[in-house]
Amino acid sequence: METRILQPSDLSAATAAEHLRAGALVALPTETVYGLGADGLNPDAVARIFAAKGRPQDNPLILHIADPAQMELFCNDIPESAWRLAEAFWPGPLTMVLPAKEIVPKCTTAGLPTVAVRCPDCAITRQIIRLAGVPVAAPSANLSGKPSTTTAQHVYHDHAGNIPLIIDGGPCRVGVESTIVDLTENPPRLLRPGGITPEQLTEVLGQLTVDKAVTAQIDNDTVVKAPGMKYRHYAPQCQVIIVSGSTQAAAKYMENHFAPGDRVLCFEEELSAFAPFAPLSYGCQADTNTLSAGLFAALRILDDPSIGKVYARCPEGGGIAYAVQNRLKKAAAFQVVNPEDTL
Ligand code: AMP
Ligand code: MG
Repeated sequence: METRILQPSDLSAATAAEHLRAGALVALPTETVYGLGADGLNPDAVARIFAAKGRPQDNPLILHIADPAQMELFCNDIPESAWRLAEAFWPGPLTMVLPAKEIVPKCTTAGLPTVAVRCPDCAITRQIIRLAGVPVAAPSANLSGKPSTTTAQHVYHDHAGNIPLIIDGGPCRVGVESTIVDLTENPPRLLRPGGITPEQLTEVLGQLTVDKAVTAQIDNDTVVKAPGMKYRHYAPQCQVIIVSGSTQAAAKYMENHFAPGDRVLCFEEELSAFAPFAPLSYGCQADTNTLSAGLFAALRILDDPSIGKVYARCPEGGGIAYAVQNRLKKAAAFQVVNPEDTL
Protein backbone atom coordinates (compact mmCIF):
# COMPACT_ATOMS: atom_id res chain seq x y z
CA MET A 1 0.00 0.00 0.00
CA GLU A 2 1.22 3.50 -0.77
CA THR A 3 1.47 5.76 2.31
CA ARG A 4 0.62 9.35 1.45
CA ILE A 5 1.73 12.28 3.61
CA LEU A 6 -0.62 15.27 3.22
CA GLN A 7 -0.35 18.78 4.62
CA PRO A 8 -3.34 20.13 6.56
CA SER A 9 -6.01 21.63 4.26
CA ASP A 10 -9.76 21.36 3.77
CA LEU A 11 -9.11 18.82 1.04
CA SER A 12 -6.80 16.62 3.13
CA ALA A 13 -9.23 16.86 6.07
CA ALA A 14 -12.03 15.59 3.80
CA THR A 15 -9.79 12.78 2.50
CA ALA A 16 -8.80 11.77 6.04
CA ALA A 17 -12.44 11.79 7.18
CA GLU A 18 -13.42 9.61 4.20
CA HIS A 19 -10.71 7.10 5.10
CA LEU A 20 -11.87 7.01 8.72
CA ARG A 21 -15.50 6.48 7.73
CA ALA A 22 -14.39 3.61 5.48
CA GLY A 23 -12.66 1.90 8.43
CA ALA A 24 -9.09 2.74 7.35
CA LEU A 25 -6.25 3.98 9.56
CA VAL A 26 -5.09 7.61 9.41
CA ALA A 27 -2.12 9.01 11.36
CA LEU A 28 -3.11 12.33 12.87
CA PRO A 29 -1.12 15.16 14.45
CA THR A 30 -2.03 16.36 17.94
CA GLU A 31 -0.31 18.71 20.38
CA THR A 32 0.95 15.69 22.38
CA VAL A 33 2.21 13.04 19.92
CA TYR A 34 1.01 11.70 16.56
CA GLY A 35 -1.89 9.26 16.90
CA LEU A 36 -2.79 6.26 14.78
CA GLY A 37 -6.50 6.90 14.31
CA ALA A 38 -9.50 4.81 13.36
CA ASP A 39 -13.28 4.98 13.80
CA GLY A 40 -13.54 4.23 17.52
CA LEU A 41 -17.04 2.80 17.14
CA ASN A 42 -16.06 0.30 14.42
CA PRO A 43 -14.52 -2.89 15.89
CA ASP A 44 -12.90 -3.90 12.57
CA ALA A 45 -11.24 -0.50 12.22
CA VAL A 46 -10.07 -0.60 15.84
CA ALA A 47 -8.64 -4.09 15.30
CA ARG A 48 -6.49 -2.60 12.50
CA ILE A 49 -4.86 -0.23 15.03
CA PHE A 50 -3.85 -3.13 17.29
CA ALA A 51 -2.51 -5.08 14.29
CA ALA A 52 -0.53 -2.15 12.83
CA LYS A 53 1.11 -1.30 16.15
CA GLY A 54 1.54 -4.83 17.47
CA ARG A 55 -0.29 -3.52 20.54
CA PRO A 56 -1.29 -5.93 23.33
CA GLN A 57 -5.08 -6.48 23.27
CA ASP A 58 -5.44 -5.54 26.94
CA ASN A 59 -4.21 -1.98 26.35
CA PRO A 60 -7.24 0.28 25.77
CA LEU A 61 -7.37 3.24 23.39
CA ILE A 62 -8.22 6.89 23.91
CA LEU A 63 -11.33 8.18 22.10
CA HIS A 64 -10.69 11.59 20.56
CA ILE A 65 -13.64 13.94 20.25
CA ALA A 66 -14.08 17.18 18.28
CA ASP A 67 -15.90 19.07 20.99
CA PRO A 68 -16.08 18.78 24.81
CA ALA A 69 -19.87 18.35 24.64
CA GLN A 70 -19.38 15.05 22.75
CA MET A 71 -18.20 13.53 26.04
CA GLU A 72 -21.90 12.88 26.77
CA LEU A 73 -22.26 10.67 23.69
CA PHE A 74 -19.75 8.12 24.98
CA CYS A 75 -19.65 8.47 28.79
CA ASN A 76 -22.15 7.82 31.59
CA ASP A 77 -22.40 9.43 35.05
CA ILE A 78 -20.16 12.37 34.14
CA PRO A 79 -19.28 14.13 37.41
CA GLU A 80 -19.35 17.88 37.61
CA SER A 81 -15.55 17.80 38.11
CA ALA A 82 -15.16 16.42 34.55
CA TRP A 83 -16.97 19.43 33.12
CA ARG A 84 -14.78 21.73 35.19
CA LEU A 85 -11.64 20.01 33.85
CA ALA A 86 -13.00 20.22 30.29
CA GLU A 87 -13.70 23.91 30.77
CA ALA A 88 -10.17 24.52 32.11
CA PHE A 89 -8.08 22.28 29.83
CA TRP A 90 -9.95 21.27 26.63
CA PRO A 91 -9.03 21.35 23.90
CA GLY A 92 -5.74 20.19 25.38
CA PRO A 93 -3.42 17.42 26.57
CA LEU A 94 -5.79 15.91 29.17
CA THR A 95 -7.52 12.52 28.95
CA MET A 96 -10.38 11.67 31.30
CA VAL A 97 -11.40 8.13 32.24
CA LEU A 98 -15.17 7.84 32.76
CA PRO A 99 -17.84 5.11 32.74
CA ALA A 100 -18.36 3.98 29.12
CA LYS A 101 -21.70 4.01 27.33
CA GLU A 102 -22.86 0.80 25.57
CA ILE A 103 -22.15 2.38 22.17
CA VAL A 104 -18.36 2.16 22.79
CA PRO A 105 -17.14 -1.25 21.60
CA LYS A 106 -15.26 -3.54 23.97
CA CYS A 107 -12.18 -3.62 21.73
CA THR A 108 -11.76 0.16 22.14
CA THR A 109 -11.86 -0.08 25.94
CA ALA A 110 -10.04 -3.45 26.03
CA GLY A 111 -13.08 -4.82 27.83
CA LEU A 112 -13.03 -2.23 30.63
CA PRO A 113 -16.31 -0.67 31.83
CA THR A 114 -14.65 2.74 31.44
CA VAL A 115 -13.53 4.77 28.43
CA ALA A 116 -10.74 7.34 28.07
CA VAL A 117 -11.76 10.53 26.21
CA ARG A 118 -9.84 13.56 25.04
CA CYS A 119 -10.46 16.67 22.95
CA PRO A 120 -7.08 17.44 21.34
CA ASP A 121 -5.73 20.95 20.83
CA CYS A 122 -5.10 20.57 17.11
CA ALA A 123 -7.49 22.31 14.71
CA ILE A 124 -6.94 20.02 11.70
CA THR A 125 -7.50 16.88 13.76
CA ARG A 126 -10.68 18.25 15.35
CA GLN A 127 -11.87 19.22 11.86
CA ILE A 128 -11.20 15.66 10.65
CA ILE A 129 -13.07 14.13 13.62
CA ARG A 130 -16.00 16.48 13.01
CA LEU A 131 -16.11 15.64 9.28
CA ALA A 132 -15.80 11.91 9.96
CA GLY A 133 -18.78 12.14 12.29
CA VAL A 134 -17.30 9.48 14.59
CA PRO A 135 -14.99 9.61 17.62
CA VAL A 136 -11.45 8.66 16.66
CA ALA A 137 -9.70 5.97 18.69
CA ALA A 138 -6.02 6.80 18.52
CA PRO A 139 -3.08 5.50 20.51
CA SER A 140 0.36 6.98 19.93
CA ALA A 141 1.36 6.05 16.37
CA ASN A 142 4.66 4.33 17.26
CA LEU A 143 5.08 0.59 16.92
CA SER A 144 4.29 -0.92 20.31
CA GLY A 145 7.19 -0.62 22.75
CA LYS A 146 9.05 2.01 20.68
CA PRO A 147 9.43 5.68 21.54
CA SER A 148 6.37 7.74 20.59
CA THR A 149 6.03 9.59 17.29
CA THR A 150 6.33 13.37 17.41
CA THR A 151 6.74 14.06 13.66
CA ALA A 152 5.06 12.77 10.50
CA GLN A 153 8.46 11.32 9.53
CA HIS A 154 8.53 9.20 12.71
CA VAL A 155 5.13 7.79 11.72
CA TYR A 156 6.32 7.15 8.16
CA HIS A 157 9.37 5.34 9.53
CA ASP A 158 7.19 2.97 11.59
CA HIS A 159 4.26 2.42 9.21
CA ALA A 160 5.29 3.16 5.60
CA GLY A 161 3.48 0.73 3.31
CA ASN A 162 1.04 -0.35 6.04
CA ILE A 163 -1.24 2.67 6.41
CA PRO A 164 -2.75 4.79 3.62
CA LEU A 165 -2.49 8.31 5.05
CA ILE A 166 -0.51 10.55 7.39
CA ILE A 167 -1.56 14.16 8.02
CA ASP A 168 1.60 16.21 8.61
CA GLY A 169 0.93 18.87 11.23
CA GLY A 170 4.64 19.49 11.92
CA PRO A 171 6.46 18.60 15.16
CA CYS A 172 4.19 18.16 18.21
CA ARG A 173 4.20 21.11 20.61
CA VAL A 174 4.00 19.19 23.92
CA GLY A 175 5.84 16.08 22.77
CA VAL A 176 4.74 13.65 25.51
CA GLU A 177 1.41 11.82 25.67
CA SER A 178 -1.61 13.31 27.40
CA THR A 179 -2.13 13.45 31.14
CA ILE A 180 -4.64 10.74 32.11
CA VAL A 181 -6.91 11.25 35.10
CA ASP A 182 -9.43 8.67 36.32
CA LEU A 183 -12.64 10.39 37.40
CA THR A 184 -14.43 7.19 38.44
CA GLU A 185 -12.66 7.47 41.79
CA ASN A 186 -12.93 10.04 44.50
CA PRO A 187 -10.53 11.78 44.80
CA PRO A 188 -9.63 11.45 41.11
CA ARG A 189 -6.49 9.46 40.33
CA LEU A 190 -3.59 10.54 38.11
CA LEU A 191 -2.79 7.54 35.90
CA ARG A 192 -0.21 9.18 33.64
CA PRO A 193 1.47 12.60 33.89
CA GLY A 194 1.58 14.78 30.78
CA GLY A 195 1.13 18.31 29.46
CA ILE A 196 -1.49 19.21 32.07
CA THR A 197 0.50 19.13 35.29
CA PRO A 198 -0.53 17.67 38.69
CA GLU A 199 -0.44 21.22 40.02
CA GLN A 200 -2.96 22.37 37.38
CA LEU A 201 -5.24 19.40 38.09
CA THR A 202 -5.13 19.95 41.84
CA GLU A 203 -6.11 23.56 41.35
CA VAL A 204 -9.34 22.48 39.65
CA LEU A 205 -10.04 19.26 41.57
CA GLY A 206 -8.83 20.15 45.04
CA GLN A 207 -7.48 16.65 45.63
CA LEU A 208 -5.64 14.17 43.43
CA THR A 209 -4.25 10.69 44.11
CA VAL A 210 -1.16 9.64 42.16
CA ASP A 211 -1.29 6.03 40.93
CA LYS A 212 1.69 3.88 41.93
CA ALA A 213 2.37 3.03 38.27
CA VAL A 214 3.44 6.66 37.75
CA THR A 215 6.41 6.44 40.07
CA ALA A 216 7.44 2.78 40.22
CA GLN A 217 8.05 -0.24 38.04
CA ILE A 218 4.93 -2.41 37.71
CA ASP A 219 5.37 -6.07 36.85
CA ASN A 220 3.26 -7.74 34.16
CA ASP A 221 1.03 -9.67 36.57
CA THR A 222 -0.08 -6.65 38.57
CA VAL A 223 -3.56 -5.30 37.91
CA VAL A 224 -3.22 -1.59 37.22
CA LYS A 225 -5.76 1.11 36.44
CA ALA A 226 -4.11 2.16 33.16
CA PRO A 227 -3.05 -1.10 31.54
CA GLY A 228 -0.54 0.70 29.31
CA MET A 229 1.53 1.72 32.32
CA LYS A 230 2.88 -1.75 32.98
CA TYR A 231 4.58 -2.24 29.61
CA ARG A 232 8.21 -1.27 28.97
CA HIS A 233 7.55 1.84 27.06
CA TYR A 234 9.06 4.79 25.33
CA ALA A 235 12.42 3.06 25.25
CA PRO A 236 15.23 2.63 22.77
CA GLN A 237 16.37 -0.99 22.40
CA CYS A 238 19.50 -0.57 24.56
CA GLN A 239 19.74 -0.21 28.31
CA VAL A 240 19.00 3.30 29.60
CA ILE A 241 20.43 4.45 32.95
CA ILE A 242 19.53 7.76 34.54
CA VAL A 243 22.50 9.54 36.09
CA SER A 244 21.31 12.08 38.65
CA GLY A 245 23.25 14.74 40.56
CA SER A 246 25.19 17.78 39.36
CA THR A 247 26.62 18.02 35.84
CA GLN A 248 30.12 17.84 37.32
CA ALA A 249 29.43 14.72 39.36
CA ALA A 250 27.74 13.08 36.38
CA ALA A 251 30.70 13.90 34.10
CA LYS A 252 33.04 12.35 36.67
CA TYR A 253 30.81 9.25 36.77
CA MET A 254 31.04 9.02 32.97
CA GLU A 255 34.86 9.08 33.18
CA ASN A 256 34.63 5.84 35.15
CA HIS A 257 31.75 4.09 33.40
CA PHE A 258 31.45 5.27 29.78
CA ALA A 259 32.48 2.63 27.20
CA PRO A 260 32.93 3.05 23.43
CA GLY A 261 29.55 2.79 21.74
CA ASP A 262 27.68 4.27 24.72
CA ARG A 263 25.86 7.61 24.45
CA VAL A 264 24.89 10.37 26.87
CA LEU A 265 21.45 11.99 26.62
CA CYS A 266 21.71 15.39 28.27
CA PHE A 267 20.55 18.99 28.45
CA GLU A 268 21.73 21.54 25.88
CA GLU A 269 23.58 23.37 28.69
CA GLU A 270 25.66 20.23 29.42
CA LEU A 271 26.92 19.46 25.90
CA SER A 272 30.41 20.76 26.57
CA ALA A 273 30.74 19.04 29.96
CA PHE A 274 29.87 15.70 28.30
CA ALA A 275 31.82 16.37 25.06
CA PRO A 276 34.05 13.24 25.44
CA PHE A 277 30.99 10.99 25.91
CA ALA A 278 29.05 11.26 22.63
CA PRO A 279 26.37 13.56 24.05
CA LEU A 280 22.97 14.18 22.47
CA SER A 281 20.88 17.09 23.73
CA TYR A 282 17.08 16.81 23.94
CA GLY A 283 16.38 20.38 25.06
CA CYS A 284 17.28 23.08 27.55
CA GLN A 285 17.21 22.49 31.28
CA ALA A 286 16.25 26.15 31.64
CA ASP A 287 13.07 25.60 29.59
CA THR A 288 11.49 22.25 30.46
CA ASN A 289 8.94 22.59 27.61
CA THR A 290 11.83 22.04 25.19
CA LEU A 291 12.73 18.84 27.06
CA SER A 292 9.24 17.35 26.67
CA ALA A 293 9.09 18.50 23.04
CA GLY A 294 12.49 16.98 22.24
CA LEU A 295 12.52 13.79 24.31
CA PHE A 296 11.00 11.26 21.90
CA ALA A 297 12.89 12.48 18.81
CA ALA A 298 16.11 11.97 20.82
CA LEU A 299 15.06 8.53 22.10
CA ARG A 300 14.33 7.56 18.48
CA ILE A 301 17.85 8.60 17.43
CA LEU A 302 19.18 6.45 20.28
CA ASP A 303 17.05 3.49 19.17
CA ASP A 304 20.02 2.11 17.25
CA PRO A 305 21.40 -1.42 17.62
CA SER A 306 25.00 -0.14 17.48
CA ILE A 307 24.58 1.78 20.75
CA GLY A 308 25.71 0.11 23.99
CA LYS A 309 24.18 1.95 26.93
CA VAL A 310 22.49 5.34 27.16
CA TYR A 311 23.27 7.44 30.23
CA ALA A 312 20.44 9.96 30.57
CA ARG A 313 20.10 13.22 32.45
CA CYS A 314 16.64 13.83 33.82
CA PRO A 315 15.05 17.13 34.94
CA GLU A 316 13.90 17.44 38.53
CA GLY A 317 10.78 19.03 39.96
CA GLY A 318 7.16 19.43 38.97
CA GLY A 319 5.29 20.93 36.03
CA ILE A 320 6.02 19.33 32.68
CA ALA A 321 9.34 18.04 34.08
CA TYR A 322 7.26 15.53 36.07
CA ALA A 323 6.01 13.98 32.80
CA VAL A 324 9.54 13.94 31.33
CA GLN A 325 10.81 12.16 34.46
CA ASN A 326 8.02 9.58 34.17
CA ARG A 327 8.83 8.77 30.51
CA LEU A 328 12.59 8.68 31.06
CA LYS A 329 12.30 6.55 34.20
CA LYS A 330 10.07 4.11 32.34
CA ALA A 331 12.57 4.01 29.46
CA ALA A 332 15.24 3.27 32.09
CA ALA A 333 13.06 0.67 33.88
CA PHE A 334 13.49 3.01 36.89
CA GLN A 335 17.25 2.45 37.04
CA VAL A 336 18.72 5.63 38.54
CA VAL A 337 22.31 6.04 39.77
CA ASN A 338 23.43 8.89 41.95
CA PRO A 339 27.12 9.51 41.21
CA GLU A 340 27.55 11.22 44.56
CA ASP A 341 26.81 7.78 46.13
CA THR A 342 29.09 5.74 43.88
CA LEU A 343 32.15 7.92 43.23
P1 AMP B 1 -1.52 5.74 24.17
O1 AMP B 1 -2.66 6.35 23.40
O2 AMP B 1 -0.65 4.84 23.36
O3 AMP B 1 -0.81 6.79 24.91
O4 AMP B 1 -2.19 4.80 25.23
C1 AMP B 1 -3.38 5.14 25.86
C2 AMP B 1 -3.26 4.99 27.33
O5 AMP B 1 -4.51 5.27 27.93
C3 AMP B 1 -2.86 3.58 27.74
O6 AMP B 1 -1.76 3.65 28.63
C4 AMP B 1 -4.06 3.05 28.45
O7 AMP B 1 -3.72 2.23 29.51
C5 AMP B 1 -4.78 4.32 28.93
N1 AMP B 1 -6.24 4.11 28.94
C6 AMP B 1 -7.06 4.08 27.88
N2 AMP B 1 -8.32 3.78 28.26
C7 AMP B 1 -8.30 3.63 29.60
C8 AMP B 1 -9.27 3.29 30.58
N3 AMP B 1 -10.54 3.07 30.26
N4 AMP B 1 -8.87 3.21 31.87
C9 AMP B 1 -7.59 3.46 32.20
N5 AMP B 1 -6.61 3.75 31.31
C10 AMP B 1 -6.95 3.83 30.03
MG1 MG C 1 1.61 4.90 23.46
